[in-house]
Parts: sequence; C-alpha cells; structure tokens
Amino acid sequence: MYQGLTSILSEDQLTINASVREQHSHDESYHTPHLPDVVVFPQSKEEVAKILQYASTHKLPVVPFAVGSSLEGHAIPIRGGISLDMMRMNRILEIRPDDFLVHVEPGVTREELNEALKKYGLFFPVDPGANASIGGMVATNASGTTTVKYGAMKEQVRKLEVVLANGEIIDTGSLAIKSSSGYHLTELFIGSEGTLGVITGIWLRVYGIPESMVAARATFPTIEQCVATTTAIMGAGIPVARMELVDPAAMRGVNFYKKTSYPEVPTVFFEFHGSKESLEQDMERVKEIANDEGCSTFDVEKSEEERRRLWDARHVAATAFLSQYPGKKQIVTDVCLPLSELPGAVKKAHEWLEELDLPGGIVGHVGDGNFHTILAIDPDNQEDMQKAEDFNEKLVGDALKRGGTCTGEHGVGLGKMKYQAEEHGSALLIMRAIKTLLDPYDIMNPGKLIDQ
Ligand SMILES: Cc1cc2nc3c(=O)[nH]c(=O)nc-3n(C[C@H](O)[C@H](O)[C@H](O)COP(=O)(O)OP(=O)(O)OC[C@H]3O[C@@H](n4cnc5c(N)ncnc54)[C@H](O)[C@@H]3O)c2cc1C
Repeated sequence: MYQGLTSILSEDQLTINASVREQHSHDESYHTPHLPDVVVFPQSKEEVAKILQYASTHKLPVVPFAVGSSLEGHAIPIRGGISLDMMRMNRILEIRPDDFLVHVEPGVTREELNEALKKYGLFFPVDPGANASIGGMVATNASGTTTVKYGAMKEQVRKLEVVLANGEIIDTGSLAIKSSSGYHLTELFIGSEGTLGVITGIWLRVYGIPESMVAARATFPTIEQCVATTTAIMGAGIPVARMELVDPAAMRGVNFYKKTSYPEVPTVFFEFHGSKESLEQDMERVKEIANDEGCSTFDVEKSEEERRRLWDARHVAATAFLSQYPGKKQIVTDVCLPLSELPGAVKKAHEWLEELDLPGGIVGHVGDGNFHTILAIDPDNQEDMQKAEDFNEKLVGDALKRGGTCTGEHGVGLGKMKYQAEEHGSALLIMRAIKTLLDPYDIMNPGKLIDQ
C-alpha cells in the first residue's frame, strides 16, 4: 500500500522503523498512543502535494506532525496511515525588517526564529511553554505569556501557503496590514489542527525589541486577590506585556524543579515593555492596584538575569509540577473567559481542586482570561481518569455558561471534541460542511476536532 511513496521520496525520507513510528505515535498528553504505518519527512511543498495526491487516491490517513508538544492528542495517528513529519521544512526564507515581516517554513521552531531575528533588533512574541514549531503553533492557534500585549498566533499570521487534501497548493491572505478582500481563509486554517490541509509556508508579523523590559512579582494571601488585581489592571488600561498567575502548588513544583526559593504562595508575575519612563509609571500604577487588593509583597526583578529566571520559572511550570510525580501524565485544563467572569471561574476551580483527591496546581494567562489546572494522573488508573474528566467537565460547563470557551489555546484534538456541540451549536454543521468540501475522503488528521 505504501510502496508508491518510494517513487515520491528518497530513501532517507520515509521509514517504517519501529522506534521512529513510536516517536510519532503520541504527543505530550495522556491520550492513548497509536502507531502510524509509515513516517515521511517531506522537504518541499511539491513533495507534500505529491504525498497528499497519493494519500487521496488511496484514501490513506495523513497526520501532520511537528514537535509533538500538543496537549490534547492532536498529532496521534489514531487511524494509522502516514505521519507527515514537517520538521525538515525548516528554512527561514526571508526577513523583511522594514515591513516587520518574516517568511518561514513550518518546521522552524519559535526559538530558532527568535535567534535569527535578534540581529535585526526584532523578535517574535508568541511563546507557548514548549519550543514548538511555527507550523504547529499556527495549526493550534497557540498563544502564551505575551498574548495580553501582542495577541495569539491568529494576530501574527499575514499569509499562508497550504497544500489541500487533494494536493492542490493555495495561498491565503496578503502581505498588506489590512484587507477587506473575500472570505478570511487564513483564519480558517489557523487552528485547524491539520484537519483541512498542510501548512507549508507562513508570513508572520514580528516586532522591534523593546527599549526596556522589567519584570515584577507580587504575592497575595489568596488566589482570588491575585485575579481581582489582574482584572483591575486590565480595567485600568495599563499596557502590561505579561501577567501570569501561579498558585502555591505550581510554585512548589517550580522550586522543586529549578532549585529556586520563590515563596510558595499565590503569586502574579508581571512584565512591562517600553521606554524607561513609561515603565516606571506603569509599574507604580500596578503596585498601587496590587496594594489596594491586599498584596503582601511586590518585588521588582530589575536585572536581566532575574527577569529571565522569573520567566524561565513560569515557562517550565507544567513540566516542573509533573516532575514531582514520576511516571504520571498531565491533564491540563484550558478554559478561557470574558475578563469579568475570570475571578468567579478561578474561585470555583480552586474550590473544586481542593475537593479533588488528585495532585493539581493552577497557572493562568490571566490577562487573557485564560487559566490552566495541571493535574498529575495515572492514565491507566480508571478512577484517576474519571475524577480528572469530571473535574474538567465541570470547569468547561462553568466556562461555557459564562460565555467562554473550552480551550483558550491548546486546541480541540481528541480531548475537547465532546464539548464542540455544546460550544458551537448549529455552527458545527457549517464546520462539518467545510471539512467535507476541503477533505471529502476525510484523510486529513481524521477523527479529530469534529466528528464527521
Ligand atoms: C510544557 C508545555 C507547555 C505548553 N504551553 C503552551 C502554551 O502556553 N500555550 C499554547 O498555546 N500551547 C502550549 N502548549 C501546547 C503546544 O506546545 C502547542 O499546542 C504547540 O502549538 C504545538 O506545536 P508543535 O510544533 O508541537 O505541533 P504538534 O504537536 O506536532 O502538532 C499540533 C497539531 O498541529 C498539526 N500540525 C503541525 N504542523 C502542521 C502543519 N505544518 N500543517 C498543518 N497542521 C500541522 C498537527 O497535525 C497537530 O494536529 C504546551 C505544551 C507543553 C508540552
């Protein structure tokens, strides 16, 4: 069945080696792995197009795979078939400093991109906790700690090149800053999780490295006070660049993993970008608001080293939490709400977590209304799984009632499929129709995102 691929790709571009198939059978989630039949490594859009033509003809599943850091089973080839590893398409094709644009292939990682941008005085802000690929980040509409200032992937992508299921190559969008031309197909592919086509080229917006950056850490007696502070800061219109909640359990994980000694109490991490004068003013206003809400300590991390250490601690929070429970896997909840609903939702989550007999911690991109509960579970223990599922279901139900979403940034994959009907109602029929139009044989990452 897969013999035909050998006429498209060279010998070192495809394999049925057991350990390579195993690497492509899972992501970073608790979802059950499944082996692909074959793993292929295309190096150009033309090769991707030929692979998809072949898969269409033979009705073979194709699952794009990049770093494999997704958290809801997105990249697991649950029906076998072809795992399409995009990481050899990793060239930075063009940097246009005057337009604040960069053109990349999908296998470039966010850290590689930032390394290349540095010499132009530019940076790319979106920073999920893993060193993910730009293609994977577009495909999941990823975001991170800087979304409160710069936005998610959706706000960064200008133009895409996509290979459709039948092998046809299309371009969506333009390099213009704005456009009212036609349907917004670029946004259709952002967050489509490999179910509508394969992204082979991406034009991204990039930014000048700010003149100054300063970070701060505020501790509070309760999580509720942390969240009340962050919503008040947003309400006051202060332009924070990062604003992250870390609860005592997550702080404990960080100290354990990084050998740091941060106080293990409810904490908010802040970062501000701008000129020296504006930063001082912003910091003073934030400190006043934090004090009004009952802040216990407010420490400014002035040196570059302290600032980096702080954000490194935040970036590893999930991994750090899990490292305390060897052999366990993570279930990470991901609800996102309108800002005014965030304090109520976090309070409920905190109460439910206290009642839950599972290790868990809360972290949150609270400036975006997005928070995560990290649970350490044994996926083979039915009781653990049921408890975690029930907990997640309560959080999602609460978020939807409050006008929010079941996933702020991780995406749907396998884990959030069951909430799609409740969240989207009859709009789900339109999504199904789009999927059928673009992928009539259901070969692109089948069994994910929506039931066909
Ligand atoms: C410790 C940790 C922290 C994390 N923190 C965050 C966070 O803060 N914010 C956040 O948003 N996410 C976070 N994530 C999740 C993950 O990093 C993101 O979802 C990331 O965008 C996935 O990128 P990837 O390169 O690993 O893609 P993969 O996991 O390989 O793939 C993800 C999905 O994209 C599809 N895909 C990949 N490449 C392409 C392509 N070229 N064309 C079409 N489809 C494609 C795949 O089929 C799959 O459905 C975290 C994960 C971990 C492990």
